Amino acid sequence: MNEYKIFINGDFVDGRGGIGEVINPHDNSVIAKYHIANREDVDLAVKFAREGFEKWRNLSINKRIRILQNLVKLLSENLDKIAQIETLNVGKPIIASKTEISAGISVLEFYIGAINKIMGETIPTLPGHFNYTIREPIGVCALIVPWNYPLMLTLWKLSPALACGNSVIIKPASWTPLSALELAKLCKEAGIPDGVVNVITGPGNEIGSYLVSHEGVDKISFTGETKTGSEIMKLASNTIKRVSLELGGKSANIVFEDADLEDAINGSIWAIYYNSGQSCEARSRLFIHKKIYDKFLSEFVEKTKKIKIGNPINKETQMGPLVSKSHLNSVHKYVEKGLEEGAKLIYGGKKIDSEDLKNGNYYMPTILELSSTENICFKEEIFGPVVVVMSFESEEEVVNLANNSKYGLAGTIWTRDVKRAIRVSNSIRAGSITINHPLTAIPGLPFGGYKQSGFGRELSLDAIELFTEKKSVIYKFDETPVNPWNL
Ligand code: NAD
Repeated sequence: MNEYKIFINGDFVDGRGGIGEVINPHDNSVIAKYHIANREDVDLAVKFAREGFEKWRNLSINKRIRILQNLVKLLSENLDKIAQIETLNVGKPIIASKTEISAGISVLEFYIGAINKIMGETIPTLPGHFNYTIREPIGVCALIVPWNYPLMLTLWKLSPALACGNSVIIKPASWTPLSALELAKLCKEAGIPDGVVNVITGPGNEIGSYLVSHEGVDKISFTGETKTGSEIMKLASNTIKRVSLELGGKSANIVFEDADLEDAINGSIWAIYYNSGQSCEARSRLFIHKKIYDKFLSEFVEKTKKIKIGNPINKETQMGPLVSKSHLNSVHKYVEKGLEEGAKLIYGGKKIDSEDLKNGNYYMPTILELSSTENICFKEEIFGPVVVVMSFESEEEVVNLANNSKYGLAGTIWTRDVKRAIRVSNSIRAGSITINHPLTAIPGLPFGGYKQSGFGRELSLDAIELFTEKKSVIYKFDETPVNPWNL
């Protein structure tokens, strides 16, 4: 059985915090062991990351570009192998793993293209002065990643961090450490200097919180739950670290009566059940106009029944298991509570216990009809294949429903009325709105949240600001004496 060590200063070394098991969500078998870091390991990673920072920031821009291009090549060559590992570890369908790793590579390519375009400005002020700004890397960045898109989200963070000249310490989620450690191997092979990329594993509340409190860390880029994000902000405040947070969501999906129903049904199904609903931007609240409610819902249910659920390693599988047994239980508890609070079960609502899937963490795609916005399933992020549906009659009503959430990550509108599409899109308080399609994450376009879904924008040139400091240089070139106090 494969045993993965932590990666510090270009070497795989023993973690001194013990050994953990990596579980396949398809059948709960152990597929690998991994070393867990302790605090001394974190100290070591920070020490070498500080040295790595000096090496990387001082490398010529062309060299940085070439090295990262090597990484693109290696990732592409190893895509099938890493996709297999991701699928065995996370339970996501193999097709999805491949698509997401390809998308991650595109993100890396996007930031490689940006490296030699990170520019400053010249700013005229006083006569006899020449003023300019430059953008400089921040330093050592802790990249803290959740378990739902382990490699893709690591690449969303790693790519701009390295493009801007920072060094990094990656901390993957404990359930899904493998692809980040595979990535570390490729970083070394690509020629990234030792210490620039480090990967440590371990429990978030112990190793993660130690890392984010560490004096030697300058910036935290975090993706995960809102509760954890709030805790991280507190921990980071002691040393005034730069922080960007990509957090939870409870996004709205609005279907107007004039929508192309076929597209809206197919797109809405994908928008909630992709990755078994374990997506921050899952459109988990479905609002359907009253005039089309019955027709839409009955077709939505029929198509939901057709989703191919099964072993994610099979090419034809569209929906795999949830990431872990405890997460499966948490999703089911939400559904039970929602039903207790008055939701009507339209479809699903239970674990799948067919002979071939009963050992895994499979949950039925679930549809709950709601009449109250006070229901727990309306308010909380369930992070599973569970959608709540409600009908609406007016635009104003549905905008209020959509905005009735502490989150503000994404939203989708289905309509053929262009004016309405823009009006509603302007009224929804969320970071990404899609109109007549469900795809939210596209390299080049800013991605991030309003409200308690976080702050900072990834995936775009905006991330350059997240990973750099701006310096003003004020140069006096005239010959007048310098004597502000007339001494
Ligand atoms: P989580 O918050 O439990 O953990 C995320 C990471 O933080 C893990 O690596 C974990 O070990 C670490 N961590 C936990 N406590 C920590 C602490 N006190 N200090 C430092 N690190 C700590 O989240 P999860 O369950 O892994 O992921 C699911 C959540 O992520 C959902 O809420 C989802 O919406 C969110 N998410 C958001 C986005 C986005 O872009 N907005 C994308 C994907 C996932």
